[in-house]
This record gives sequence, structure tokens and C-alpha cells, in this order.
Amino acid sequence: MKDISLEVIVTGLVQGVGFRPFVYRIATKSELTGWVLNTNENVRIQVTGTPENIESFLHSLKNQSPQAASIDKISTQAIATENFESFSIHGSHDISDEITEISPDIAVCDDCLHDIDQPGSRLDYAFVNCTNCGPRFTIIRDLPYDRAKTTMKSFSMCPECLAEYKNVLDRRFHAQPTACSVCGPEYELFIGKKKISNDINYIIDKVSQCIDDGGVLLIKGLGGMHLACDAFNETSVQKLRDLKNREGKPLAVMFRDLESLKLYAEVNQQEEKLLVSWRRPIVLIEKKYTKDQQVLAESLNSGLNLLGVMLPYMPIHYLLFRNLKTDAIVLTSGNFSSEPILIDNELALDQFSSLVDAVVLHNRDIYNRTDDSVVRIIANKERVFRRSRGYVPTPVRTALNTEGIVAFGAELTNCFCVGKGQKAFLSQHIGDLQGLETTLFYEKTLAQFIQLFRIKPSLLAVDMHPEYVSTKTGLSFGAFPVVQVQHHHSHVASCMAEHHLDEKVIGVALDGTGLGTDGNIWGSEFLVCDLNHFARFTHFDYIPLPGGDLAAEEPWRTAISYLYKVYGADLYSLELPVLKQIDPEKIRLIIQMIDRNINCPLTSGAGRLFDCVASLLDLVQVATFQAEGPMRLESIINIGCTDKYAFTFGKIILFDETIRGIVDDIHLGIDKATISAKFHNTIISVIFETVNNIRQAEGINKVVLSGGVFQNKYLLEGTTAILLSANFEVYSHASVPTNDGGIALGQLAVASKRRELLCV
Ligand code: ZN
Ligand code: ZN
Ligand code: FE
Repeated sequence: MKDISLEVIVTGLVQGVGFRPFVYRIATKSELTGWVLNTNENVRIQVTGTPENIESFLHSLKNQSPQAASIDKISTQAIATENFESFSIHGSHDISDEITEISPDIAVCDDCLHDIDQPGSRLDYAFVNCTNCGPRFTIIRDLPYDRAKTTMKSFSMCPECLAEYKNVLDRRFHAQPTACSVCGPEYELFIGKKKISNDINYIIDKVSQCIDDGGVLLIKGLGGMHLACDAFNETSVQKLRDLKNREGKPLAVMFRDLESLKLYAEVNQQEEKLLVSWRRPIVLIEKKYTKDQQVLAESLNSGLNLLGVMLPYMPIHYLLFRNLKTDAIVLTSGNFSSEPILIDNELALDQFSSLVDAVVLHNRDIYNRTDDSVVRIIANKERVFRRSRGYVPTPVRTALNTEGIVAFGAELTNCFCVGKGQKAFLSQHIGDLQGLETTLFYEKTLAQFIQLFRIKPSLLAVDMHPEYVSTKTGLSFGAFPVVQVQHHHSHVASCMAEHHLDEKVIGVALDGTGLGTDGNIWGSEFLVCDLNHFARFTHFDYIPLPGGDLAAEEPWRTAISYLYKVYGADLYSLELPVLKQIDPEKIRLIIQMIDRNINCPLTSGAGRLFDCVASLLDLVQVATFQAEGPMRLESIINIGCTDKYAFTFGKIILFDETIRGIVDDIHLGIDKATISAKFHNTIISVIFETVNNIRQAEGINKVVLSGGVFQNKYLLEGTTAILLSANFEVYSHASVPTNDGGIALGQLAVASKRRELLCV
């Protein structure tokens, strides 16, 4: 058959993931000649061969690409037949300055795991990697992606590694972080501040024994340090919590393998797929209770029904589990609560060597700090709650011109976002901008993103709240126009940007707090909006928040505020746990504050209503972690119950009847699970009826759901189902966090739209 030539253009995440060697292999296998090269935003291929062989090449291109590659589009065009001697890879000098995609870090692959079992320089080598796996974002200082621009620069390859690196048929061809025990990084064991050993076998022996004996360790990972201990040992878990400063947050658990994990969590097919995916996130899965088996430490997940679980993703994890007796270890970020995950060796020794039984460090520097990502399957879809390792810095592809926009994000659960072309680079999870360390991390990472992705800032976007560190950072950033975006408009715009919506929609933003245009604290907003503009259709009734921010930490305050609103001074005659748990003097003081309007900002925050109900049910009075009230409420729902409470529509939505209904049920001794279900059903009903009213008034059929409250599976699934059944088009977050981690994308979308409309 006569040879033909074809030009093929592949777009997507196709760089730094072994794509060109892959193309080389399938092209030569299909007996094609030609070349492959990286350009600005794609991979270009030219092939010459028989139509049959080209067909089989295209089939492999589509179906066998490297696991971390993500192909957006393959376009082909017939060109005049051109003959080549062979197939070749054009070098990385072809990469222009404008290359913007960097691969996230990839879990160690099976081939590499096989290598650490074989005799040779990679036997038991904990830094084994190849073009299909290993560190990426965490070690990259600059582009183009070359070893010299990573933290592997200080390690020069041994002749063997170099030969593999240069061999186009080798799995390590152009694998920038490639290394072996002869030439690469190594682990070091410290006890106290004293260096004990750098022999990996000795370290693994010691460390696994230490964990099995109940010890707590600090271990340096991919994107930062982890604290680790036996997940079955309550005393160790308590010790670990104590040294992190007693936070009550649920802790993530790494299981030996899928098999052992399935003994403790109800894993469905989708969850299994996520657990074993190369991103290896922490997946929130329902805990499983089986008789006759070892029990996980009770305090691990703080009594919730969800467990944050993950599987090994670094060679060291596998080496450890080879020796460990326990099937599960706690693996949580190594830091003091409220500080970012530690990455610096010296600092780690300074801060933790006297607190833990051992410190295990390595000498490969972490340039971009990342936490483990957290995801959950809701309504059969992956929802990213904390977007970091394995996900960042993959851009969010928008339908907007985001060029040069820098969006600074919210105050809590901060991520920022920078724009390039139509891509929005959402930063990794930064954390709560309320301490010096996190603020420094924020500023540094922002500078790194701007440099790494060659952003030329021309427009800034910030929240309306003047006191946010992020807002202040934005306002002092430089002489650029600034767009200020209302918090809940940002939430909805973020979800719109994720789904390429650019029209009038019904926006439902339910969360904890965000400053409103009337100076009150919003958080249950029903908006009629597009990307430029919003109107507030209605919201939950305002209630005074005694103590302001403190109320989020102490749900009983909000409960008293609701009770006082509904019952007035009669509240004292109610038979409620909160009235017994809390010092009557304190309650009186709170009521005085409300009466005299002292430090009682008004809020419509949906999160506070959930807090109130959690306090009424005595699930929590003083929270030990963020959103504890709502999480405990969700955790106990009686799934079968379809009842709900009454509520009132006026210009705003009133819950007085709901509160009365709940208090009556408590007095009647109705179980908490049923009350929680009825409350959730009430909220779903409120959303449905309100959205229906808006459709009637405005003729809009698209509903966009956003805000942290929609991390609640029962609520999001229930709301989605009822809206779909009434023929609404429903949009909710998937790859972008629905919590404040997604705010920056919304700010960026609004800024882009306003620039397009020449409003800035
Ligand atoms: Zn590999
Ligand atoms: Zn080597
Ligand atoms: Fe929010």
C-alpha cells in the first residue's frame, strides 16, 4: 500500500509525563517514520506510513497513553507525503517560554515497585521513579521541565542512570528525577537531633518497629512532612494529636493495601478507582464495622462515620509496610495545627525531634509544598475538597480570557488563582490565612506561581472583606486595576467557570461566612446572577451572632441566639441539653449581648443554622475543628426518614417553626438520627421551593450550587435529585472545591467578565 503522511496535534496534559517517548514507541512499533515535538500548548507529531499502520498508531495514541497524561483533543490533518529515515524525538530546546503545563506528582508505578525487588542499584531504593511516575510539581523550580531546574539538580546521574536517561527505548528516557542508590537522594534517621543512620534497611527496620511498638514519627514525604503512628493504637493516636496541639480533626489513615482497607471502609467501585489512581488522594469513605476484627483507634475520625483513607504512593510507604505488622498507619501532615505542612529539614528537627520518637528525613528538597488531597464521591462523581498533591498544578480549563488575572482567594481554606490564556491555575491548598507561617507560605507560593507560569499580572481580584489577609495582599500588590467580588457571588461564579457557564443562572451559595454588600455576614444566598453581576433574591433570616467569629468555634452561642429569637425569655424553661451543658451565667451574658447589640453581627450563614441544630442535639457545644457541627449532623442521619419540619417563606426564609419542631421532637424523645434527617430534608425542601420561586419569577432553569455546605453528601445528592426531577439543569462542583478553596476561581471569572465588558 502507498505511504501517506499525517500531522497530529495533541493537546492536554502531555508534557512531563513521558508522552514523547510513548509516541516514539508506538510510532516505531507501527513502523512509521517522522517526528514528535513539544510546542507551546501541545505535542505535534508528523508520521509517514501505510494507512493501516497510521490507523493502528492513532488507536494506540488514544488508548494507551501514559497514566498521568490527560488528552484533551487529538486533531489530525493529511499532508503531502514526506519521507523520513526513521522516527525521532526533537529535543526540549523546542519548548518555548510559554509552556504552561506541569504534571502533578505521580504515585510510584508498578514497574518501579518491581525494580526495588530486583538486585542492582535500585534494590530497596526509596527514590525510584521513571517517566511514568515520581515527583514532579513538588520538585520543579522553573520551566522548561529539565533536571537542572528541579531540586534534583544537586544529584549528578551515575553512568547507568545516564545511559537509561538517554536511551529512547528505556522507561527512564528523559525521566528528570531519575536516580538510584549510587547517585540519588537518601533517607536519614534521627533520634533526638542525633543522626543515627542513612542505611535504608536499617531505617526501615527501626521505623517499622517503632510504629508497631506505639511510637510516633515524623517522616518527610513528597510535598512535606508527615506524622505517623499505628492507626490501631489509641494511645499513640492520642499522643500524635497532643503533639500537634490537641486539634480534634479527623486523621487520615494509610492502609497496607486495598484488601486490608476494605475491612474497615465500605468501598464502592468509584471509590476504589480513586484510591488506586495515580493521584492517590485521601478518599472520604464510610467506616465499616465488622465483628471479630482489630478495631481502629476510636479517636481517629473523631466519632464520625467517615474515614479519610489512602493507599501507599511513595516507595518508602511500600518498604515500610513490607516490615510493619500493622495494616494501617495514621499519616497526617507534619505541622502544628494552623501552620502549613513542614518542608524544611532543619526546622523539622528543631520543632519535632524532642516530641517524636524518631525523625526520618531525606535530602531531596521540596520546592512546592503540597498536602495530601482530599476527595469524596457524591452523586457518583469525584468531588475534590482539598486540591493539592496529585491534582495541582493542573489548570482548570475555562471558556474565559483569564490572561494576567491574579485572584487572591478567601481567608479560610485559601487557594489563590492565576490566569493564562483560558487556563486558570488554582494553587494548592494553602490553609487558613490567620497565622504568620501560613501567610508566608501564601506569599511565597503566589510569587512562585507567577514566576513558574510566566504570569504578567494586569488585573487583580479580591474579596470584598477589607480585613482578609488575601484582600490586603491584593490591594498592596501593585499598580493594577482591582476587582472586588462578593464572597457568594465568587462561589457561584467558581462553579460557573468550572462548567463553562456564561449566562444568567440561579445561584445557591450555602456556607459559613462571607461579607455581604449590606455589611452583614452572609452565607445562605439565593442569587440571580451572571459572571458580571448578581442580585440577591432571598436568604435565610438574619440572626445575631454573639461574639462574632467565636460563634463558629462555639456552636452553643448560635443555638442560644436562635432559641432566644424563637422563645424569648421562655427559653429557660426548655428541657434542652445545651441549657444544662453551658454555665447559666454564660447564657445570660450572651442574651445581654444580644439585647444590647454588643459584638453581635447579623448573619444569614447556613453553617450557623447547622451549628445550632448540632448544639440542640448535643452533638457539639464547643467545636474542636472547622465545621464540626455540620459534619456530626450529617454523620448521624437516619437515611430512611423522609419527614421534614415546617418553615416560613416571606421576603426571607424563616426557621422559627423549624426550631420549634426540633425542640418539640427533643422533648418527645425522638432520636437524634431522625431529627437530623428531618432537618436536612427541611433544608433540601427550602432550596427546592426557593429555586422554584425564582424560576417562576425569572424564567431561569439553570441552578448552580456552591459553598462549603454542599460538601454534605446527603444534602447535595438530595438537592440535586429533587431539582433534576423538576427538570432543572443542576451544576455543582467536582474538580474545584465547593468550599472556600474554590473562591479564587470565581473571583478570577468575575474579573475576566468585567474586563471583557470594559467594566474595569
Ligand atoms: Zn515508575
Ligand atoms: Zn544512578
Ligand atoms: Fe464561603
